Amino acid sequence: KREQLSPKKLAQELCQADDVDAQMSLLVQQFEFSEGERRLRDLLVTLFQEVFLEFFPGSAILPFGSSVNGFDVSGCDLDLFLDLEKTKKFQASTKSPAEPLAEDVASPEPDSHSEDSILSDIDLASATTPEVLELVATVLQKCVPGVHHVQVVPNARRPVVKFCHKESGLRGDISIDNKLALRNTRFLQLCTETDERVRPLVYAVRHWAKQQALAGNPFGGGPLLNNYALTLLVLFFLQTRNPPVLPTVARLKELTENEEQTVVDGWDCSFPKDLTRLEPSSNTENLCTLLAEFFHVFGDYNFASCMISLREGQPLPLPGVLESTVGSKLKLGPFNLQDPFELSHNVAANVNEKTALRFQRCCQAAAKYCRSLQYQRKSSKGKIWGLVRLFQPGTAEAETPAATGLVISLPLTLASLPAQTRKQLSQAGNMHQCWFQKVCSSIAFVLKDVLRCDCLEAQEGSEREGEAVTECKQREQQTEADAEQPSSAGHKRSLDEEEADLSSPAPKRLRTDTLSPEGESMTWNCAMWRRVWLGRRRVRRQLRGPQPNSQCAAGSLELEAKVSEAISQQEGEARPTDPLLQFTVHARTGADSSGEQGMRISLCFEPAPEQAAAFQEFFHFLQGFLPRAVEQHVVSAT
Ligand code: ATP
Ligand code: MG
Repeated sequence: KREQLSPKKLAQELCQADDVDAQMSLLVQQFEFSEGERRLRDLLVTLFQEVFLEFFPGSAILPFGSSVNGFDVSGCDLDLFLDLEKTKKFQASTKSPAEPLAEDVASPEPDSHSEDSILSDIDLASATTPEVLELVATVLQKCVPGVHHVQVVPNARRPVVKFCHKESGLRGDISIDNKLALRNTRFLQLCTETDERVRPLVYAVRHWAKQQALAGNPFGGGPLLNNYALTLLVLFFLQTRNPPVLPTVARLKELTENEEQTVVDGWDCSFPKDLTRLEPSSNTENLCTLLAEFFHVFGDYNFASCMISLREGQPLPLPGVLESTVGSKLKLGPFNLQDPFELSHNVAANVNEKTALRFQRCCQAAAKYCRSLQYQRKSSKGKIWGLVRLFQPGTAEAETPAATGLVISLPLTLASLPAQTRKQLSQAGNMHQCWFQKVCSSIAFVLKDVLRCDCLEAQEGSEREGEAVTECKQREQQTEADAEQPSSAGHKRSLDEEEADLSSPAPKRLRTDTLSPEGESMTWNCAMWRRVWLGRRRVRRQLRGPQPNSQCAAGSLELEAKVSEAISQQEGEARPTDPLLQFTVHARTGADSSGEQGMRISLCFEPAPEQAAAFQEFFHFLQGFLPRAVEQHVVSAT
């Protein structure tokens, strides 16, 4: 198994390339399967095939998805289709299905779940998909060596059996009702064969989207784009270049010979089986330009008002789509991207308004960055350049901190505190510094004691902190670039600022190694073990009971701590072996762009590299919860 490349190592490798095109080719090399991984997958497929053939005569196991579509990423899941068509026919052709099949099936384990009974127990023609999947799961569990965590997921859009290969940790799905996916997999393959720019461009866009938490939720589902949808978007973009890099699906259909015409589940999936009849593209744009143009085009795109059609290679106005035969079945939303074959399927129907908006904003920010020399040229001074900066999470924050970044601004300013508290603070010497410390201890209290998060103040100079802080600093410098500095001429300073300056002529910094000269900062490394952000309202109601308990008033931090404890207990006694989420929080003071008060604390969250998407849900909860809870604690503790 190849070692996963750390983000830092990837950045270093990319920075050494000569230009953006070379960076993009390198990206593919870094992510694609090694020889060993490809061999392992082939072996697994062969093993599955042998076992299933024994139990389901005539069956075939066919890989699809990223293992074979040309967009393989080391460690990606193994999607398998179990084709039972021939088994069904076989079963139907035998008068009494049980007997002839029993003869065919060797029985390595004659007791309990006898394989002899497997097909005699079920009539494949009338069985429901979950019933067949249960059977597939039994075979997997009992008869495929080295496979564990077998689980039927019957209610997904495409029901599957999930499994994990013990030794390699490889995860996979088996579906039985997904012929269209085999065909769209072949279509993606054909696109990668058509033009060599397709793969690097898709890898770059996928990685960028993952880093920005726009795609690829590792827990599945949710409002993010999936990799298939994102890939189609890149292919569509390539169809719309002038001259086009890729042909439209309608054009591919025209090039298809009669005997290659293919219809799956009633949908026309015809395209040539190889490239022999395809004209090469006359488009000569390089990868660097294409990527920049991708962002430019989709930064200005109105996803909600049209349907992106790969079949036509153009956006279709919605009124026309709705009137068409498939219109009534299409699930329209803020992001409309029509499957190239199953025309009544919007592959981005799960994307919500917030994600669609973030996608657009992130494209705009990326397009802006791509216009800079930092993108286009290798740094001669050893600074990060090209794709590396583009892949940093949260690059769109400068434009829209609230909509895209993992930053929470606490509404607390000195002026917002009660007069009494301000007085206490001012007596303590350096008012700003004390106030910052006070707020930080409240932040730590809320994270640790209220939300049961492990939270360690980061050691100065640790590598991880250093990296994170630099990044945070870059983002915040961007945010503040246009903001008026509180001490600049013409700014009306508040009483508190005057007061603070008088009491502390030379403000000391809390941390001398970090952040901007005018601010203070604090960093924590955190780990969440329980999903305390889910179902709080219900638990809160249960805890408070019919008679509100005055000791545990609604909204009190004490009650909130109990809610977290109850949720943790519900999740089971033993802690999971690994934390669900790991992240860093940087608290810092910064200039308040409203100018009315010079101190405002922002919290910048940095999830562990592979958790950007999973972190979103928790972050969303924190946005609502944290500011109120911290404020409550600051006020009550002074
Ligand atoms: P990865 O597993 O790396 O995320 P993938 O392409 O394998 O990429 P999966 O979500 O595993 O993505 O889906 C496997 C395949 O199923 C896809 O390649 C595609 O053929 C098909 N597929 C996935 N999502 C959809 C969808 N929304 N509509 C139609 N087909 C889909
Ligand atoms: Mg997959």
